[in-house]
Amino acid sequence: MIEVIRHVYKLSGWWDQPDLGANVYLVVDGGKLTLIDTGYAHNFRLILGRIHRMGFLPSCVRHIIVTHHHPDHVGGLAALKQTTGAAVVAHADDVPYIEGALPQPGPCRPGWLRSASAPLVPLLRTAPVKVDIVVKGGEELPVAGGIRVLHTPGHTPGSICVFLRQRGLVMTGDLLAQRLGIRLPALSFTVDVGQVQDSVRKLAEEDFETACFGHGSPLVKNASKRVAEYARRLDHKKPF
Ligand SMILES: [Zn+2]
Ligand SMILES: [Zn+2]
Repeated sequence: MIEVIRHVYKLSGWWDQPDLGANVYLVVDGGKLTLIDTGYAHNFRLILGRIHRMGFLPSCVRHIIVTHHHPDHVGGLAALKQTTGAAVVAHADDVPYIEGALPQPGPCRPGWLRSASAPLVPLLRTAPVKVDIVVKGGEELPVAGGIRVLHTPGHTPGSICVFLRQRGLVMTGDLLAQRLGIRLPALSFTVDVGQVQDSVRKLAEEDFETACFGHGSPLVKNASKRVAEYARRLDHKKPF
């Protein structure tokens, strides 16, 4: 576990491996806690253990914000919601997947991977969870000391970036990752790569000091400048 900036923790620490789920972040606002994403289902005991070691009860978790519907981000959601009683926040376009009205789609491309993995797709199934606060982008909510939601579709239809307004920090989900530099998300699980690029440009217009990614390490300084540089490089690449 690391404290990214004051009162914002990356809980995923030592199990931060690509095959073990996405990063899980915790924001402490007085006695109220907010989780951003949950990792795979089996990560939920580790998350609760870390919260306990910080001196908080599970009921201190008031909100769980889901950046998008993929199983490495929502796998632990059902158990965490049940244990904490937290309200779940997600974008309207990903709600059908989170609530189970639509199945987890599995890989989007290439075609051979999509067909080869078809028998495994049921294994990606996640327990349906009711979303309590449905967002569309542009909202400012009194969660985690004040957040603003930016709709950044492409990786999934309802992918969001979440800004902690008072702290100059953004949680990007899988819009971008940070491993040996900023990069796009896994294209095999990305619905619309062109739309991701448009969303990266949209994020690049924002001002933030710190960026926390769904996969990889946070950028603690000058993050919006580095995202803007990356967005400019995208402009010179051919579309996929
Ligand atoms: Zn992910
Ligand atoms: Zn994803």
